[in-house]
Amino acid sequence: MVPSYRDLVERAKQEIGEISPEQLEPRRSEIEVIDVREAGEHAQGAIPGARLLPRGLLERDIAGLVPDTSKQIVLYCAGGGRSALAALSLREMGYDHVTSLAGGFDRWKAEGRAWRTGEGLTADQRDRYSRHVLLPGVGEKGQTRLLESKVLLIGAGGLGSPAALYLAAAGVGTIGIVDYDTVDATNLQRQILHNVERIGMPKTDSARETLSALNPDVKVVTHNERLTAGNALKIMAGYDIVVDGGDNFPTRYLVNDASLHLETPVVHGSIFRFEGQVSVFHPYQGPCYRCLFPEPPPPELSPSCAEAGVLGVLPGIIGSIEAMEAIKLLLGIGDPLTGRLLIYDALEEDFSTVNLSRDPECQACSDPGRPPLIIDYDQTCLPAGNVDRAPSAV
Ligand SMILES: [Zn+2]
Repeated sequence: MVPSYRDLVERAKQEIGEISPEQLEPRRSEIEVIDVREAGEHAQGAIPGARLLPRGLLERDIAGLVPDTSKQIVLYCAGGGRSALAALSLREMGYDHVTSLAGGFDRWKAEGRAWRTGEGLTADQRDRYSRHVLLPGVGEKGQTRLLESKVLLIGAGGLGSPAALYLAAAGVGTIGIVDYDTVDATNLQRQILHNVERIGMPKTDSARETLSALNPDVKVVTHNERLTAGNALKIMAGYDIVVDGGDNFPTRYLVNDASLHLETPVVHGSIFRFEGQVSVFHPYQGPCYRCLFPEPPPPELSPSCAEAGVLGVLPGIIGSIEAMEAIKLLLGIGDPLTGRLLIYDALEEDFSTVNLSRDPECQACSDPGRPPLIIDYDQTCLPAGNVDRAPSAV
């Protein structure tokens, strides 16, 4: 006998299991929640923070939305049937931790849980982001876009701290943080994500605590590991923008090369003593980092390899400008620093910009069809045998 739709759904539910709205609600920030209904249904009302990926596009587009097949995923539809079948399909594609919301959005809503309408915000969000919503060029639409955006921060240090705080406060929905260092007393002079009680704690965990307390709307994804040639593409995939707050040349080149593969814009920031610089490297639209500096400098000429002093407020300023550039790119407003380098001289209190152009001969970005090989540059910068002790962020 040919099984009915109902039989198929029941079988799928048994195989993939379901999660109740009650179980999902407190864990929403750690789980990727995907609405598999049609765009029209999504616009009528959706679970806050959920991303739309209609059932018909699921298999085609899931890798772009969730590249990591080990991630916890909850799918939902209106009543729980379509999402159960969709979950089964993702299981077959290797997504091992996917399940379906029991009773779907209808039950979620009937139980009185928070939901938002399509482009709109929840009442709490409308309140919280009212100063954004009032701005021309932002509005509810822009704020919704921020809430659906994903930004990856390289480093939870001096530059990453202010950038992360402002991005979280602004309601950027997903903030990923890569750092493998632990909080140290000498960090606290500038790394304002952390505090004395967190000394010894992984910086990623400390960052998550601070950002979650600041804004529970934000999903914080931690990558407590060093960015390497082996994991860079996997970690960076799926983010809309990368904010580079790393202080070392190997990471800078790695981020640049991986961004050319993924075509992800990189907001670059760096500081040295009393001077800071910011630029946006938008793959194939403006210069890349290698257009300016084709190869990493030898270790003896790279100041970040040694302990260099820094006035704590300087990364505060530069990291904040990086957050501003990221938000402008996400909203598509203003004139980002693509093809321009902003230079800040703290002692003279002077900002200037210089134009940068793409090098038509650049080994990395001159041919979009042939992005560079991704390799580790550790040996060129860090002392041999001392790799793990290298500073991960400013
Ligand atoms: Zn280039």
